[in-house]
Amino acid sequence: MAGYLCKCGNHLSTTETPNDIELRVYTDREWDMLIQQDLIDPITIPLPEYDVWLCPKCQRLYFFNWDTGEPVKIYNLE
Ligand SMILES: [Zn+2]
Repeated sequence: MAGYLCKCGNHLSTTETPNDIELRVYTDREWDMLIQQDLIDPITIPLPEYDVWLCPKCQRLYFFNWDTGEPVKIYNLE
C-alpha cells in the first residue's frame, strides 16, 4: 500500500524511502521476542503487527492490516 486519503483530505504516501508517514510500532512483547532472536540486521527484523501511518497535517494515526490494506484502528487528537 503506497497511498491513502486521510479523513482531513491530506493524501498520505509512502512511496519515498525514508518518509515521515510510516511508523514502526512494536509492543514491548513483540520487541522482546525480536531481541531474543538475536537479530542484528534491521532488514531481517519482521514487520510489526500493524502498518502505522501518521498524517503530518492532522496528526491522525492509522493502524492498517497488512493483508487487507484497510485501517483497523484510527486515532485522532482531541
Ligand atoms: Zn490528516
